[in-house]
Amino acid sequence: MCFVMLQKVQIGTKELQDYASIVGRDMIEEIRELAKPLEGKKVLHLSATAYGGGVSEILYTILPLMRDVGLDAEWQVIYGRDDFFSATKLLHNALQGAPTDLSDEQWATWRRYNELNARELAPGWDTCIVHDPQPAAIHGLAKDKAKSWVWRCHIDLSTPNPDTIAHLLPEIADYPQSVFHMQQYVPDGMKGKVNIVPPAIDPLAPKNMVFPPTEATYICDQFGIDTKRPLLCQVSRFDPWKDPLGVIDAYRIVKQEIPDVQLALVGSMASDDPEGWDFFNATVTHAGGDPDIHILNNFNNVGSIEVNAFQSFADVLIQKSTREGFGLTVSEGLWKARPFIGGDVGGIPLQVTDGETGYLVQTAEQCAARSLELLRDPQLGIDLGLAGKEHVRKHFLSPRLLRDWLRIIGEAPVG
Ligand code: UDP
Repeated sequence: MCFVMLQKVQIGTKELQDYASIVGRDMIEEIRELAKPLEGKKVLHLSATAYGGGVSEILYTILPLMRDVGLDAEWQVIYGRDDFFSATKLLHNALQGAPTDLSDEQWATWRRYNELNARELAPGWDTCIVHDPQPAAIHGLAKDKAKSWVWRCHIDLSTPNPDTIAHLLPEIADYPQSVFHMQQYVPDGMKGKVNIVPPAIDPLAPKNMVFPPTEATYICDQFGIDTKRPLLCQVSRFDPWKDPLGVIDAYRIVKQEIPDVQLALVGSMASDDPEGWDFFNATVTHAGGDPDIHILNNFNNVGSIEVNAFQSFADVLIQKSTREGFGLTVSEGLWKARPFIGGDVGGIPLQVTDGETGYLVQTAEQCAARSLELLRDPQLGIDLGLAGKEHVRKHFLSPRLLRDWLRIIGEAPVG
């Protein structure tokens, strides 16, 4: 492990001006005012992966926008090997409530990699924003390398494994600032300023830009979907918390009433998720060879455009999670004005107001009942979808998130 290197992530360019017609001129002007005093500030985002999942999705937009408004922002990915990522996957699960805490050896592995990365981190940052628990100990180990520090938590910390949160707390409590999606995720004992800021989606990214229906249909057809028959779809990593098995159960109930129905489970495999393949295989087994269940992942060439196509084309979009920090896929689906059914957990109710912008469910049976309702009454789905889109426009698009970050960076206490 002598060649430890934090990897700088290459990011594209984006222009804030392009968002004016979507979020309105007032928001753009507010952002420019907040950005003025921050011009040239060196801001570092540190995360565990640049590929897969919601964190990287957000950073690929927020970094170019920070740069566009004048900040000298950079994104680096920490160094880690399989032993580290196995430990951090357990850490993630335990913090979301799984019963197994890390073993002493796994905690030691986590700490050792944090020490390595802290040592290699270049100094001289105005603000260092540390994403999620994987690199969380770096603040305590390398305080002098940035003038101010922020811990950004992307996960649902409302019911953590008590041993795990007790072990992590000393590492996160001293951050001068922290950011959580929701108040109920904030653990007792945080000493710095706590900010509540939900994430956002990029309406101009290929995944979310407006897609002509004919193109969406064409792409879904290429993946073997019969585009003349109804489609239920869930887009998410293959992870027990996302409950793809429950989605299959719901689909089976729907199929008894509407035999034509199909299901697409579209899921990317993340590089820091060694368990992902096991659960992917478990999902395939649960599908039991049903030719109307389409299980696709990024190794089948499902990228952003394809995700957009599935989200734009599906008759009903589902995110039946049993834990969900926020669930970007929810805003992505609502932004496409599709009828949406989400698990009644974590950040999903922020986005889905039951009966107004979609439906909230707890069980496969409820999910099936709502799916049947939506498949039988397309106008209901259109009304819910349009209300959902406006809700997302107001609350969950990238310029709002950029504004909130500029406020946080502008107020950053030193330490
Ligand atoms: N995603 C993707 N391809 C897939 C599955 C998921 O690009 O096959 C994206 C999805 O569109 C969303 C992100 O990965 O932007 C997942 O974020 P979310 O907050 O929903 O869940 P997380 O994976 O962070 O728990």
